[in-house]
Amino acid sequence: MRWTQSFITTLREPPSDADLVSHRLMIRAGLISKLSSGIYTFLPLGLRVLKKVEAIVRDEMARAGAEELLLPILSPAELWEESGRWGEYGKELMRVKDRHGREFALGPTHEEIITDLVRNRAKSYRQLPLCLYQIQTKFRDEIRPRFGVMRAREFMMKDAYSFHESEECLDKYYRVMHEAYTRIFERCGFRFRAVLADSGLIGGDVTHEFVALADSGESVVISCSNPDCGYAATAESAEGIIARVTSDEKENALEKVHTPGMGSVEEVSAFLGVSPSRLIKTLLYTVDGVTVSVLVRGDREISEAKLMRALDPGARLSTPGEILDATGAAVGYAGPVGLDMKIIADEGVKGMVNAVSGANETDYHLLNIVPGRDFSVDGYFDIACVRAGDRCGRCGSELADYRGIELGQIFKLGTKYSEKMGAVFSGRNGEQRFFVMGCYGIGVSRIIAAAIESGHDKDGIIWPMSIAPYCVTIVPVNYSDPAIRESAEALYGALRRDGVETLIDDRDERAGVKFKDADLIGVPLRVTVGKKLSSSGTVELTKRSDGQTEDVPVNEAVNRIMDFVAQEA
Ligand code: ATP
Ligand code: MG
Repeated sequence: MRWTQSFITTLREPPSDADLVSHRLMIRAGLISKLSSGIYTFLPLGLRVLKKVEAIVRDEMARAGAEELLLPILSPAELWEESGRWGEYGKELMRVKDRHGREFALGPTHEEIITDLVRNRAKSYRQLPLCLYQIQTKFRDEIRPRFGVMRAREFMMKDAYSFHESEECLDKYYRVMHEAYTRIFERCGFRFRAVLADSGLIGGDVTHEFVALADSGESVVISCSNPDCGYAATAESAEGIIARVTSDEKENALEKVHTPGMGSVEEVSAFLGVSPSRLIKTLLYTVDGVTVSVLVRGDREISEAKLMRALDPGARLSTPGEILDATGAAVGYAGPVGLDMKIIADEGVKGMVNAVSGANETDYHLLNIVPGRDFSVDGYFDIACVRAGDRCGRCGSELADYRGIELGQIFKLGTKYSEKMGAVFSGRNGEQRFFVMGCYGIGVSRIIAAAIESGHDKDGIIWPMSIAPYCVTIVPVNYSDPAIRESAEALYGALRRDGVETLIDDRDERAGVKFKDADLIGVPLRVTVGKKLSSSGTVELTKRSDGQTEDVPVNEAVNRIMDFVAQEA
């Protein structure tokens, strides 16, 4: 491609609303352009990268025996009602009405639609196992769209769905997909890990997230420090042993204290001079219109994922109005003593002595609370998030944490959707059986942002060869110099004939401007055609990754470039 003919629009200044380096670089390098919050155009340069990622994904899906199809983006509400997710999905599901008032969803994921297709067309065990996938635009009305295409409202996803006769067959295929995902992320150049996760709204029992290691990532992974154990899970779902705060101190009598304007754990512990681990945080959740209180030690956070499993997937935090109705106090002053409702607690609350919690009266707390003596708990569960320093639930070693970006997730769904939607096939003895399903998603557009998070420097993007928009860029330092122009054009023609994706910067610009742009868009190899051509008959090859340069006789350049491209691919 010639620079003068292409729509490459690099920018000097980063956009003011972008605080993640990948977002800034994607805009500045002219990969994407913002249309509206969480909605981006893929410009030609960005689309080239997207197509590269898609090609890797398609290649590995084919290897795993999956077949591509294309499902509609609009899906009728009735299908979502069959699975129960029309209600469950909430505001993240984009909903539209047609001219007759019929409701549709803009697909955020396609379990319902594929299950409907397969129940209509696969009637016998002979058609199984079956895996179908698509690469398509998805819609999610995220609460906080941010970081460009990393968390967008419209984004590109690869979603695959497999159908099996039995759990054993699903287990086997899940491993095949696990390997396919591993190869995809290796080929895209990531340092990543597969970690146990929570299945959220998609459902099912076993699920892994593939997380690229990145300090800027939104995901937190908890992993065991013992390499022989290898346990790793997302912070929301990680299980571990939280050291109990045990005490042999004697139980004191309840005491009410005035804590004006002290609604948070930090405020109360500072005001009373007690450590947060001696507080009991009392949170109220509403389930089907009924309020339930949930207790956790003051130095801990509730894992909503674990809580949903213990309580109800439809549970939500109560509103300030509901809290006032239920406790008679403002937010921040709820406590378990005298509270007339179901109380569930994290295991860490067991055995606390002389704890502090709200008095169910605005501006007051109670001291010396003893669970069991002052209130009873309807059930203890593991509902707190573990963190670095806690012990591994498997081997007892210390847990560590790190941050990352979720690139993809795979799920064993079992019969969750097939049972709800009556999706059956006839088995080996003619009996009707529910399909056993798996599903497998990859954020194809997010991969691009994640790749830039791990591959950049102060001058711009550093692409791995496998997903670079071009493999080589030729920079004639002065395009109006006939000798330089002819040599650069000859190289360009030769590389194109050999199928090397090459960009030639044929602009009438200063060399410095061209070098800056080449660094910004991050093409792995730059070929500079300049003064050395007439003095020593050489051109200069510069690797974007480490800036190493090499002078190569012009007649050997094509072979050297081809070798480099092949080596890095
Ligand atoms: P997250 O936890 O980041 O919101 P998710 O778990 O809801 O993601 P999945 O339903 O597992 O997402 O979707 C499959 C993949 O699609 C994710 O692993 C991620 O790479 C990508 N993805 C999900 N939401 C977005 C988004 N808003 N923008 C870009 N990519 C996304
Ligand atoms: Mg996910």
